[in-house]
Amino acid sequence: MNVAQYTQRAEQFTEALRREEYLHFSGIKSDYRTEEIFEKFADLFSREAVLARLGDREGRDGRYLAEFAARHHIEQRLRGLTERIVEAERAAHVAYDGERMPFLRALGQLVQEPDHGRRRALEEAVADVMSHHNEWRAQRMAGQRQIAQELGFEDYRALCEDLSGQPLRALGREMALLAEDTQSAYRERIEEALDGAGIAPPEATDWDLRWTVLAPRHTRAFPRERLLAAAEATLAGMGVVLSEQANVQLDLEARPGKSPRPFCTPVSVPGEVWVVASPRGGWVDFLSFFHELGHAEHFACTDRELPGPYRIMGDEALTEAFAFLLQSVVLDRGWLREVLGVKTPPQSLFRAGQLLSLWYVRRYAGKILYELDLHGGDVQPAEMAPHYARLLGEAVGVRVAPEAYLFDVDDWFYCARYLRAWMLDACLQLHLRERFGPVWFRSPEAGQWLLSLWRRGTELRAEELAAELGLQFGIAPLRDRLLGDL
Ligand SMILES: [Zn+2]
Repeated sequence: MNVAQYTQRAEQFTEALRREEYLHFSGIKSDYRTEEIFEKFADLFSREAVLARLGDREGRDGRYLAEFAARHHIEQRLRGLTERIVEAERAAHVAYDGERMPFLRALGQLVQEPDHGRRRALEEAVADVMSHHNEWRAQRMAGQRQIAQELGFEDYRALCEDLSGQPLRALGREMALLAEDTQSAYRERIEEALDGAGIAPPEATDWDLRWTVLAPRHTRAFPRERLLAAAEATLAGMGVVLSEQANVQLDLEARPGKSPRPFCTPVSVPGEVWVVASPRGGWVDFLSFFHELGHAEHFACTDRELPGPYRIMGDEALTEAFAFLLQSVVLDRGWLREVLGVKTPPQSLFRAGQLLSLWYVRRYAGKILYELDLHGGDVQPAEMAPHYARLLGEAVGVRVAPEAYLFDVDDWFYCARYLRAWMLDACLQLHLRERFGPVWFRSPEAGQWLLSLWRRGTELRAEELAAELGLQFGIAPLRDRLLGDL
């Protein structure tokens, strides 16, 4: 199969897989049949096909194709184990309130449960379920390592670093510095939040902290009925008319089986992009929806003439940065005033916003340091769970359950994509403010400028885009944004 044929089939495969993803996670279809799709496109991920792609990665599109091939080759070979874990988690239940609650629902309930004692009991039950599946997860990770070696890499970490082009170890070192720089401000924020919630900081766990930050709050200022109008008004301010974008599909109706978390699935780019959500109201809900809308605009505005690798492959840090960028308007005073009509938002909202950003970035900084050790084989397997609890605990400043040491790991070092996305978002925000003013999102010129970036799809990596725009990419702009005046 030559490159053109491979690219064409890869695009068909991606469309089929993403359509299944959309149908299942939106609750339209209860089963999730990826097996047939992988079988139909097995020729894309055979050992020969992958080695051919790995041997042809001189150019940029060749590198994206090689990453795509290797990623799905590993996924395909470990699918049996992955499915066993997914099914076991779906079938698992925990005791809650004298009844049995599905494990996956319990994870959502943990950030909603206001009673400290009940939250703690639920937390322990959830950790117990995780520990039951850790053996399979460990096997899966060993499989990733073994396949990486069969493909000619030292280990899974080396494979991810090479094929994604992400400087993982250098990024880990930078993140350790960022964690140091933000330590005292973060400490202050969590103590204030935990005190406010009546939780003694030394006893607090990560779930307590998540509850203080992520539970639905400020629902009066962020009513669910206003979400769509606010999204339309925001995009209109940038010259984008959401209702006229035929390729952006909003799925906002309530449906049993629909994922409680909003998501964006670009079934085809730019032809069919879905944003799926069940709006509940509250500031965190608005943030999540605007995040997904940011992804959707990026994909929907991508130039359809671009080759496949620059529309459906490449560096996800780029699309994550555009998602964070659009999400950032929700906690902007100018946006609150002009779009939501909130004239004097409470200071507590901005303090919570700062805590949320710090918590996320520091948590992911802890994750990359941990995942580098996990996949690099630098720490003995028996030591890994306490190692996780220590590194993540230092990052988020409260106790973290060691049982999550394999559950809390995304494939392919996705944590690095988020960290680099936050760095790119920080310099894009700085640039937008300087060039178009503090309420840049009300400027059609700023919208035009963003469209010119979105049009280029996923061609550039985050660092390349920043360099091309003459922006300083690094931890400094991110640190300044995280610690900026409220
Ligand atoms: Zn995202």
